Amino acid sequence: MRKIILVFALFLGVAACKTNPFTGKKVLNFYPNSQIFPTAFAQYDQFLTENKVVENTADAKMITKVGQRISSAAERWLTANGYSGYLKDYKWEYNLVNDETVNAWCMPGGKIVFYTGILPICKGETGVAVVMGHEVAHALADHGAQRMSAGTLQQLGAVAGNVAIQDPEKRNIFNQAYGVGSQVGVMLPFSRSHETEADRIGLQIMAIAGYDPAEAAELWKRMKANSGGEAPPEFMSTHPSNDTRIKNLTEWAPAARAEAKKFGVTSFQK
Ligand SMILES: [Zn+2]
Repeated sequence: MRKIILVFALFLGVAACKTNPFTGKKVLNFYPNSQIFPTAFAQYDQFLTENKVVENTADAKMITKVGQRISSAAERWLTANGYSGYLKDYKWEYNLVNDETVNAWCMPGGKIVFYTGILPICKGETGVAVVMGHEVAHALADHGAQRMSAGTLQQLGAVAGNVAIQDPEKRNIFNQAYGVGSQVGVMLPFSRSHETEADRIGLQIMAIAGYDPAEAAELWKRMKANSGGEAPPEFMSTHPSNDTRIKNLTEWAPAARAEAKKFGVTSFQK
């Protein structure tokens, strides 16, 4: 039985490698969008009914505007690089929620939440674009699905004989991967490599959207100054360290600007 499980896991692993368009790397992901997105969309809607969504204020409108600029930049990049259709199952949505937590997150398929608590650190539209680019990047790179895939392999190894992935169990894996159920809307931390990847992709997209990528390092300096106490789980995750992050983002900014120039962007909003 154990052997069968191992062979099955190996099969899933091999059959389910998908290329990340932004890095060109093969990644383990055997959850197609069609399996994950409906669950994510339902969880997102539920979160919105249970929390205070801010509507029609200047801040709420800014979140939507930045989100649209960022996702449209991502679409332009994907189309130019031979990935048109990559976003066909995505249903972008950007909401501001009244909550003092310093956080923002994106569920698979482009469902984004900003908490009002992160706005003072963003300071303005370009700061919001830094956070938005990072969150959108997690969704574009399927980081959630990869985490679920890794979790499934672990479960297959741990639960001998339970090869069939039943629906309730899949939901359980989703909930574990997203922290749903324990604290609604609080995402578990991504791995350090996923964080770094989201920083890099996010920087590129924000530049293509016309925002100054130099603002990314500035935002993280403010984040560092703010994080005296306990860091919230996702956005201010301690991996990579703030200093590494600031250093990376400063180094990558010129490349992000150069990439944006290919899309005709020559001046950047500060
Ligand atoms: Zn992140």
